[in-house]
Amino acid sequence: MSSSSRENVILFPFMAQGHLIPYLALALKIQSKFGYSITIINTPLNILKLQRSLPPTTSNINLVSLPYSSADHSLPPNSENTDVLPYPLIINLLESLHSLKPHFHKFISELVNLNTPPLCIISDTFMGWTVEIAKEFEIFHSVFLTGGAYGLATYYSIWLNQPQLQSQSEEFLLPDFPHDLRIHRSQLAEIALHATGTDSWSLFLKRELSQTLCSDGFLINTVEEFEQVGLTYFRSKLSQDSVWAVGPVSDYALSLKSRASSTDLSIQWLDNQQEKSVLYISFGSQNTISSTQMMELATGLEQSGKSFIWVVRPPLGYDINEEFQSEWLPDGFEERMKAKNRGLLVRKWAPQLEILSHRATSVFLSHCGWNSILESLSFGVPIIGWPISTEQYYNSKLLEEEIMVSVELARGNRNVIRHEDLVRVIDLFMSNQSKKGVEMRSKACEFKEMIENAIRDEDGFKGSSVKGLDEFFAMALLRKVMKVHHHGN
Ligand code: UDP
Repeated sequence: MSSSSRENVILFPFMAQGHLIPYLALALKIQSKFGYSITIINTPLNILKLQRSLPPTTSNINLVSLPYSSADHSLPPNSENTDVLPYPLIINLLESLHSLKPHFHKFISELVNLNTPPLCIISDTFMGWTVEIAKEFEIFHSVFLTGGAYGLATYYSIWLNQPQLQSQSEEFLLPDFPHDLRIHRSQLAEIALHATGTDSWSLFLKRELSQTLCSDGFLINTVEEFEQVGLTYFRSKLSQDSVWAVGPVSDYALSLKSRASSTDLSIQWLDNQQEKSVLYISFGSQNTISSTQMMELATGLEQSGKSFIWVVRPPLGYDINEEFQSEWLPDGFEERMKAKNRGLLVRKWAPQLEILSHRATSVFLSHCGWNSILESLSFGVPIIGWPISTEQYYNSKLLEEEIMVSVELARGNRNVIRHEDLVRVIDLFMSNQSKKGVEMRSKACEFKEMIENAIRDEDGFKGSSVKGLDEFFAMALLRKVMKVHHHGN
């Protein structure tokens, strides 16, 4: 056994698909690149989920469940992941994470007693208490942020400064930002807008986020070249050399290559469309819009005259399994679009990576979830923003105001949108005469190149994200050597 394969890296993700998937991608990357063994810690049902998604050939990834029962935390039985919880109960899940602390402590202490301490612990931002345990056992600790640096820096700044922000005017400067960053109240996610400083969200986030700032470092699923504002924020909070941009941890082009060619209906439909002629619409894996907004969206799509694929999830207040209804889609809309070969409505889930990489896809109307953004930019597809919750608002601000690869169409799932606005924005991106559309597309292609370069590791060339992960492990190993030296064994 080589010395590297004796090293063990512990990963502890939060229980949401948008976190588990990048954590798993990071695990696979660390394993294939450094040969370390990986232990992923979680609750029993999430470990089962991970077991099913591990590629069959994977070895050296141990999955460990800590004792946990959702029913002990005012949650429905067997509800261990945000994907089965309505939004108001997510705070209960977050608060319940503390019950894992003694079990995690026991697990680490047993490893240390066996003289096999891990090289490092990498945990999610909502488990700030893991920092304390790592410090007790003198183990190198890092947070891995699955979101973007700008969105999360804004999120940190807003929550760490509650409730002071509530007394600010309509538009204000974030107080602890190294750059002047102006936020309008309408750009605050709903829970932040109504936070009092003593509500459950404020108390939970203030405690956990400030604990994470005592970690030895932050790994961030982003790209150094286009995230300077957010990275500078975290570097000002930790230190210049303890924040590493290592994203995207999933290599989308590679993961597409490893899939069998798609027989999915949406891809067959796209195959028959012209180059760069289709608008793709999706609000991610959890969010939905209201029924009136869906009506306006459908009306706008019909009036725009452009082709589209829309991943439809039933609106707020309807069961996810409900069939299409005339209260939230205009009568005969789906049939008319089908008859004219104008648009395809996909129920709940579509092969997003394949759609975004397809030559026919032109623009993405997105809720601005970070994975969607990275995927879209990786294929050079510009974005129409419609953020719906939490840091999506700040991600959208990054796209529109900082890197200028998007136009924000709407915010939130309660506000009124007008179909005329949709038609105007679609035209901006998709009409042949639009200079703005050409500009946005060429900008998106620049980001595609930046991303390709950041993850390139060949012929002696190492991109910034590759170097980031190398430097992170060099630091972890150095800490280990220093500790051994200090204790004399
Ligand atoms: N996704 C997909 N098909 C869908 C909806 C989502 O493949 O119909 C995938 C998408 O490619 C992305 C993830 O689900 O990898 C969504 O993550 P994101 O951070 O964008 O949003 P979230 O769902 O966490 O709000």
